[in-house]
Amino acid sequence: MAEKDDNLLKKIISHAKEYGFIFPSSEIYDGLAAAYDYGQNGVELKNKIKEYWWRAMVQMHENIVGIDASIFMHPTTWKASGHVDAFNDPLIDNKDSKKRYRADVLVEDHIAKVQGKIDKEVTKAEKRFGDDFDKDQFVSTNQRVVQYQEKINSINERLKNSIENSDFDALKALIEELEIACPVSGSRNWTEVRQFNLMFSTDIGSLADDSSKIYLRPETAQGIFVNFLNVQKSGRMKIPFGIAQIGKAFRNEIIARQFIFRMREFEQMEMQFFVKPGEEMDWYEQWKEKRIAWHRSLGMDESNYRFHDHLNLAHYANAACDIEFNFPMGFKELEGIHSRTDFDLKAHEEHSGKKLQFFDPQEEQSYVPYVIETSIGLDRMFLAVLSGCYKEEKLEDGSERVVLALPPALAPSQVAVLPLIKRDGLPEKAREIISSLKFDYSCNYDEKDAIGRRYRRQDAIGTPFCITVDHQTLEDNTVTVRDRDSMEQERCSIEELKSRISELTAMTNLLKSL
Ligand code: ATP
Repeated sequence: MAEKDDNLLKKIISHAKEYGFIFPSSEIYDGLAAAYDYGQNGVELKNKIKEYWWRAMVQMHENIVGIDASIFMHPTTWKASGHVDAFNDPLIDNKDSKKRYRADVLVEDHIAKVQGKIDKEVTKAEKRFGDDFDKDQFVSTNQRVVQYQEKINSINERLKNSIENSDFDALKALIEELEIACPVSGSRNWTEVRQFNLMFSTDIGSLADDSSKIYLRPETAQGIFVNFLNVQKSGRMKIPFGIAQIGKAFRNEIIARQFIFRMREFEQMEMQFFVKPGEEMDWYEQWKEKRIAWHRSLGMDESNYRFHDHLNLAHYANAACDIEFNFPMGFKELEGIHSRTDFDLKAHEEHSGKKLQFFDPQEEQSYVPYVIETSIGLDRMFLAVLSGCYKEEKLEDGSERVVLALPPALAPSQVAVLPLIKRDGLPEKAREIISSLKFDYSCNYDEKDAIGRRYRRQDAIGTPFCITVDHQTLEDNTVTVRDRDSMEQERCSIEELKSRISELTAMTNLLKSL
């Protein structure tokens, strides 16, 4: 990845707009905060990411099937899931800047600063001791590091208690005690902490009398839980099995920012894996491995990923972690893997009065399965890919280029076909080539400007191959194929094109490496 700073995010946002990946929503009316539209290249990349996920989860697993549930669900769903009562964020306002923050995030950011001090000490010591450095020993014995760690533990404990007990006075007291200041005004002039429910609601029904309040789903998972028995019975599924879904979710985030990282309307790719109670930890570990392998197979720098175990578990979980990605803003959650116990199915049993159980023929008894969930934000994945692949390169001749080194299988277009000049029958020949390739690949055609500029445009949208049609093509049916990353060009026959492109761009390659 290129540099790591605020500038990088700005560059990515403007690159995404300039090259048709992402536009601010309703921009002609000055946009709508935290809403974005995917443009002509963005939608292709997004669809490819979805395809990679869907095929890896559903097509590659005999015991995982997909569904597509509706966004509106019976309102009791959200009572059962706990979202009506507990899907709240504690918010706090700074009286001077009038900016609103999540109180827990302010504390977490403070913890991250202390963690940063530990990391600094470790890096210094690593340099000092060289090969003899034993990190575990260092962090458990170095006085300063131990003190920092104790501080983190104590803050974490107090944060956890105040959230669990909805004790917002304690949370405010913690913010004051840690002397946390507003990043904008620099002041510590805070309001009280208040609860804020994140669900969007609307009315269903045309007449005021028979209308009733209904929610836009804040997660796709519940659509899977309420269909557990439908899928199990109609698909004759046996435990363990999974149900996968891709779809929109809506959250009225207090602070929605950092581009598509936190939006109010976003897309999730979730899979709920139903297992026998008692076996959940084993499956939890297996899904952690499988999901990180899915990310790594894309070939972005390994150092971009890390696991983060949750210390403060949600009320329904008995183990949980995030796969964090090194976004331009630093390491942040990209995907969550949660062991959700039997919380959701049991809650739906209680609220619906229907049994949601599996009859185990071997054990000859019915039970409510436990659930391992893998949940990834499609838009966050999009940002991870965009920022992980954005490169600014200085070339040997002194010029510069911006290239999106996308995994070839995800690129919006796999090939661009470019006639060297706009006459002498070269455009016609180029279109003939596209006609034969377009059944298998999305192809770009471009005849405007000098060939060098056209190559740059394709680099900027991540097209892995440029095929150039020149006068020799008319004589011997050969073209030049330019590789996006090495910029090397090779001559090859038109017949060979299909197999060459497929070898390097097929999604099968990604799936095979899982
Ligand atoms: P965060 O702590 O960042 O608010 P979360 O822990 O609430 O996220 P989950 O409820 O676990 O998130 O949702 C699963 C995934 O959905 C997240 O890992 C993330 O990729 C994605 N996601 C959640 N909220 C948003 C959002 N507002 N915008 C975009 N993606 C989101």
